[in-house]
Amino acid sequence: MDTKVININSTEPEEELIQAAAALIRDGELVAFPTETVYGLGADGLNEDAVNKIFLSKGRPQDNPLILHVDSVDMLEQLVMEIPFAARLCIEKFWPGPLTILFRRREIVPDIVTAGLETVAIRMPSHPIALRLISLSGTPIAAPSANSSGKPSPTRAEHVLEDMDGKIPMIIDGGETGVGLESTVLDLTGDKPMILRPGGVTLEDVRMLLPNAIVDPALGPSNEDMVPKSPGQKYRHYAPKAQMILVSGENKKIVDEINRLTTEAVLKGMKVGIMCCTENKGSYSAHMVADMGSCVDKETIAHNLFHIIRDLDRTKVDLIICEAVGEDEIGLAIMNRLLKAAGGKLVKV
Ligand code: AMP
Ligand code: MG
Repeated sequence: MDTKVININSTEPEEELIQAAAALIRDGELVAFPTETVYGLGADGLNEDAVNKIFLSKGRPQDNPLILHVDSVDMLEQLVMEIPFAARLCIEKFWPGPLTILFRRREIVPDIVTAGLETVAIRMPSHPIALRLISLSGTPIAAPSANSSGKPSPTRAEHVLEDMDGKIPMIIDGGETGVGLESTVLDLTGDKPMILRPGGVTLEDVRMLLPNAIVDPALGPSNEDMVPKSPGQKYRHYAPKAQMILVSGENKKIVDEINRLTTEAVLKGMKVGIMCCTENKGSYSAHMVADMGSCVDKETIAHNLFHIIRDLDRTKVDLIICEAVGEDEIGLAIMNRLLKAAGGKLVKV
């Protein structure tokens, strides 16, 4: 299959170009498109065969449910049994935006979308291209990140092309995505509001509305024996081809430990890549030293993260050593992705 890449203006999307993409969605085909989080791989969320193509082209395990993307609360109401009060508050404050909420699903939602679960994950994206594509398709769009399963999520159309060339008919290139990490997944169906996957909307943000919100305890690095409530969280993810180690602790000690690990690896003949904050860049020497952004600007670190991991892989390093960041605000989501990318390998100094 030929994969067409079309450029669409991300602030004022050209209507006729989005019409062509929407026609593909209505025909049961896949279209990759930008959202404010990462690029999504979209299909008509009510068409089982179309959704199945998502699983096939990503190599995604069938037990990992998908998020449905809607353009309005009207569309949401068609899909769910009820909208609880807490959900209404969150929708009011965070939609459109990077917050996915779990609802009890209606029959109309195919089993393949929810992996047979009684809940369905739904969000309203804020990216103009994503919103217009949903509206013109006239159907909720099921869309996981548009990468091959296990690889870093795509934040540029070129990343999508790397993974999906020849597998899907169309990629919409709308430039770089904003947040750079996936949406927060929030479960409001249990006793307490629970974040199942940290993301663009932070725990601190959610607690302003729902003070008793917690993060799924199974997500902590020391709780590997617990089963996360979100099926996707049990897989190794975002993984570079190189081995990866994270180093956390007090800044001076992190720098010393990374330099020690680098020397050790280089003596073994390995090529090393380092991911660090701008302030520490001058303290390292390695095959590639990648600047994630200032340590006081975690939004920029989040924005750059997946692109840097893909870049380092392209330079064919054998080992990536990365500075840990503080787990406040978006730092929690950054550390969640980094720990998955590193397969849990964390050195504390
Ligand atoms: P992705 O679309 O690849 O960003 O992943 C969507 C995330 O939402 C995965 O971690 C899924 O496991 C999670 N998810 C989707 N639907 C549900 C659900 N009904 N219950 C729990 N987690 C879900
Ligand atoms: Mg994904």
